[in-house]
Amino acid sequence: MKTFEELGVASTILRAIQEMGYENPMPVQEEVIPYLLSEVRDVIALAQTGTGKTAAFGLPVIQKVDVDKNVPQALILAPTRELCLQIAGDLNDYSKYVDGLHVLPVYGGSSIESQIKALRRGVQIIVATPGRLIDLINRRTVNLETIRYVVLDEADEMLNMGFTESIDEILSKVPETRSMLLFSATMPKEIAKITRKYMTDPKEITIGRKNEGSNNVKHVFYLVHAKDKYLVLKRIADHNPNIYGIVFCRTRAETQDIADKLIQDGYNADSLHGDLSQAQRDYVMQKFRVRNIQLLVATDVAARGLDVDSLTHVINYGLPDDIESYTHRSGRTGRAGKTGTSIAIVHVKEKGKVREIEKIINKQFEKGTIPTGNEICEKQLLNFVDKVEKVKVNEDEIGKLLPAVFRKLDWLEKEDIVKRVISLELNRLIDYYQDADEIEEPQERRGRDRESSFSDRRERGGDRGSVRGERSDRGPSGPRTAEKGYTRIFINVGRMDGVNPATLMGVINDYVPGKVRIGRIDLMKNFSFFEVPEGDTGKVLKALQSADHNGRRISVEVAQADGSGSSSPRSEKRSFGGSDRDDRGSDRRFNDRKSPKKEHRKGGSRPRY
Ligand code: AMP
Repeated sequence: MKTFEELGVASTILRAIQEMGYENPMPVQEEVIPYLLSEVRDVIALAQTGTGKTAAFGLPVIQKVDVDKNVPQALILAPTRELCLQIAGDLNDYSKYVDGLHVLPVYGGSSIESQIKALRRGVQIIVATPGRLIDLINRRTVNLETIRYVVLDEADEMLNMGFTESIDEILSKVPETRSMLLFSATMPKEIAKITRKYMTDPKEITIGRKNEGSNNVKHVFYLVHAKDKYLVLKRIADHNPNIYGIVFCRTRAETQDIADKLIQDGYNADSLHGDLSQAQRDYVMQKFRVRNIQLLVATDVAARGLDVDSLTHVINYGLPDDIESYTHRSGRTGRAGKTGTSIAIVHVKEKGKVREIEKIINKQFEKGTIPTGNEICEKQLLNFVDKVEKVKVNEDEIGKLLPAVFRKLDWLEKEDIVKRVISLELNRLIDYYQDADEIEEPQERRGRDRESSFSDRRERGGDRGSVRGERSDRGPSGPRTAEKGYTRIFINVGRMDGVNPATLMGVINDYVPGKVRIGRIDLMKNFSFFEVPEGDTGKVLKALQSADHNGRRISVEVAQADGSGSSSPRSEKRSFGGSDRDDRGSDRRFNDRKSPKKEHRKGGSRPRY
C-alpha cells in the first residue's frame, strides 16, 4: 500500500488530511489520485458511497487548481443539496492550508443572491446541484468557460433524479478540453451513454467488482401479502430491539404514512422526504445522526444527503422501481468495516426483482422467516435482561436510596420482583403480540396449502395445540361430522366476535389443563366449531364451561350432526349476533381489550415465559 505522499499529494494538503486522521489512502484514493494528478484526461470510477471518493477526486482537484487565478476551474456536480454541502465542507477541510482557495457550494433551497455575490467575489471550485447551476447559468451570473475539471459525483443517482438534460446543458457550456471524472455506484446503460458522449478514452477504475454490493452486507427478503407489509415491518423492528436503520419507501406519501403509523404505534421513528421544508429535513437528519431516532422512513432522494456510517439495517419497504437503486440503499449499511443487513419486504409479484438484484449485486438473498409473536417477545426479553446485566450501577448514589426501596419491597420474593420489572418493560409488547395474528406467508409453490404453513408456524411458535387439516374462515358448506377419533365442539363465539383460529386456540390453551391436541376448526359468523380427541372431550367441556374472556362468558357443548350445538343453535346465534348483544346487556367483543397498538389485532398466541 502506498502513502498519500507516494501518490503525489502536496505537503499543504497532507498536513490537513493528517490532522483529519487520514493515515493511509483508501483503495479508491490509491487508484484514482495518481490518474488525476497525471495527464490522463477522463476517468470513470465505480465505487460505492462511503468508500472515500470525496478525497479521491477532492485532493487532486485542490492540488491542480491555480489559486492565483480567481476564476472557476473545477466544477463538481452532485445530486442533492446535502451531498453538495458535504463535499464543499470536505474540500474546505482538505484545503485548510492552501491559501487563496475558495470553494463555493451552489444548491437550491437557499438564497440565490448570496450565491451570486460569492461567485462575483471569485471562486476556483464550484460544487453544485444541477438545477441551481442551470438557474445561475440562465441569469448569466456564472461563467463555465474557464472550467478545466468536471466531476460528476453519484452520477447514476443524478440520472435517476431526472437530471440528464440539465447535465447535457451544463456540459455544453464547459470547454471540450476539460478533464472529466465520473463517480457512480452502478453502471446502468444511461451512464454508459454519458461516458461515450462526453469522455475521451476514459480510464475505468472499479473498486471491488462492478456493481457489486458491499461484502459486509447480508441481504434478506421477506415474502409477504401486500396487506401485511406494515405488520411485517413492525415485527422486523421488534425482533431487532437495537435497530438503527432507514426504511426506504417509494413515494413521499407512502413515506409519511409509514412514519406516521410507526410513531403512532410507539416507535422511535420519523420521516424524511421532499415535501418537508429544508429546515424540517435538517432537523430530522440531525435527530437521526445523534440516534434520537431509531428508524428513519425516507425516500431515496431525501436520504442521499445523509452520511451515517453505523446503520444496522436498511429496510426496503417494497423494492425500488429502478432496481439499481437497491445497490444505493443497501450500500448505506455495512460501512466502515461494520456489518449490516439489507432487508426487502416484498410481495409475490416482486419476487422476480429479487432474482434480478441478485445478479446485479452478485450475491444471494436469504429468505427471512417472519418472526412469531413468541420469538419477538423472547428476543426483547433477552435483550432487556442483557441490559440489566450490563447496566452500570452508581453504587454511591443508588446505595443511599436502597434501604427505603428494600423496606418497601420486603414482602416480595426475588422472583416476584424480577417478574414485575420485566412486566414493566415488556407488557405493552406482550399485550400486542398475544392478540396479534401470526402472519401468513404467501405460498410460492402450488400444492402446499395454506393450512400446513399455519400449523408449521404454530408449532414453531411453541403453542401446544396444532391445527389439523383445513382451517376455514368460510366455514363448511354443509353439516359436518367430526374426524374419526375426534369430538366436534360448538362454541358460542365466531368471526363477528373477532375470533380466529389463533384466538380460539389461545383460549383453549389458557383454560384447559394439560396438553390437548386441537383438530379441525370451523369459524362461522356468530359461532364456531373445533375438534378435540374423544378422550379429552369431558376435560375440555368442563374447563371451558367456566371460561370467561374479557368479561364475556364462553359456552361450549358437543356439536350435533346437523351442524349445531346440542341445544338450540339458533338461540345461540340470536344470543350473540348483532343487536342481541344489547339484550345481554353487554356489547363487549371477544377481542376488544384496549391496547396501545390496536391496529390489525385479531387475536393470537400468548407469549409464555
Ligand atoms: P466518502 O466516501 O468520501 O463520503 O468518505 C467516507 C468516510 O471516510 C468519510 O467520513 C471520510 O472522512 C472518511 N475517509 C476518507 N478517506 C479516508 C482515509 N484515507 N482515511 C480515513 N478516513 C477516510
